[in-house]
Amino acid sequence: MKAIILSIGDELVSGQALDTNSADLARRLGELGVAAVEHRTVGDDRRAIAAALTAAAAAADVVLVTGGLGPTADDLTRQALADAMGAELVLDRERLAESEAVFRGRGRTMQPANRIQAMVPAGATSMPNPLGTAPGIAARLGRADVYVLPGVPHEMQRMFDECIAPRLVGQGAVVHRRVHCFGKGESDIAAGIAELMERGRNPAVGTTASAGMITVRVAARGASRQEAQDLAERTVAEVRRRLGNLAVGLDEQTMPAAVGHLLRQAEATLATAESCTGGLIGELITSVAGSSDYYLGGVVAYGNDAKCDLLAVPEGLIRQHGAVSESVAAAMAEGCRKRFGADWAVSVTGIAGPSGGSEDKPVGLVYIGLAGAAGTQVHRHILPVTRDIVRLRAALTALDHLRLALMGQEA
Ligand code: ATP
Repeated sequence: MKAIILSIGDELVSGQALDTNSADLARRLGELGVAAVEHRTVGDDRRAIAAALTAAAAAADVVLVTGGLGPTADDLTRQALADAMGAELVLDRERLAESEAVFRGRGRTMQPANRIQAMVPAGATSMPNPLGTAPGIAARLGRADVYVLPGVPHEMQRMFDECIAPRLVGQGAVVHRRVHCFGKGESDIAAGIAELMERGRNPAVGTTASAGMITVRVAARGASRQEAQDLAERTVAEVRRRLGNLAVGLDEQTMPAAVGHLLRQAEATLATAESCTGGLIGELITSVAGSSDYYLGGVVAYGNDAKCDLLAVPEGLIRQHGAVSESVAAAMAEGCRKRFGADWAVSVTGIAGPSGGSEDKPVGLVYIGLAGAAGTQVHRHILPVTRDIVRLRAALTALDHLRLALMGQEA
């Protein structure tokens, strides 16, 4: 089976937004044994979209389209599909009722313009969108099955996994699992599970790098949901066995959720003292629902005075060693632990750049302090060079040291 992926939107063609959907869908198709043979990006032009649809449907078995399903005048994918099919748009009452319910649930009234979202070309069917107001469309055109999905990445991902993937594997079922990893680069992680990643295997195993984490994706096909689930489970267990402590969590359990789980298990509390990460660790921790069970709070101690006044870092320590130093990281963590009365405190002090580095203390140098009942440890890292990456990696690395300490893997 061959697939062509079309991305629709002026913002993509003009370079205002990056087309991540095509790569994402191509990867998901590959996991199901369907080869994506072409990606094409088309602006918000009804005739151009219709022409692209007709050409793609003549050349592939499956055409996946994202974007242009909204209610505004520049959302033209639905109309273009109708043109290509030579069909009228008709109202799907079930979808209309669903969309109205979504608006009601959000305390809003549905505008007449939104009715267009419940319309499909005659002969096509609409596909529910559990996360948004724009339903998808499934149609037959030329030699292809055409699936149109909203442009919003998380909406289209969910709809692909729930509605389209099962259709592409016929009677069977597909189960997706994710193993989030941290501590090594993507190629090292991939090398550790190389046999599992061989092409053509079921489950299909692949890696993606995003937001500082490496995720191992497992897609299992089976004759039944149970069979697919069992296959996925066995592979996930093998991935975890091979990667050991590099495997942080499964599915929704990314780094902050994994750390939260361990803190809750230990009935322990945490406080944070952040300099160059400016509150990012606190942001990550509190992104997890229920984090008030274990997170007491944090101090963004960016300037030297704040470090001394709020975290009781001795002024002389900063004068002698500099604010970015092992001893200041230790004092920040200890001061924070005491101040909040927490079981654990993490601290970060570093040089995020782009300026401020020196030969001794280059940009990317970060000290992470971890204070607990058994004492204080400090880790020194040189992280990759751009400011955003240094800050994100520093925050994740701090959480990872805490995770390993909670697992009893570090003193
Ligand atoms: P909506 O109902 O939200 O308007 P839609 O199907 O009309 O949904 P668009 O309006 O085209 O989708 O895009 C919605 C959002 O999704 C925008 O923020 C857009 O930048 C993003 N988006 C659209 N296409 C892609 C793509 N190919 N890759 C990544 N993001 C995309």
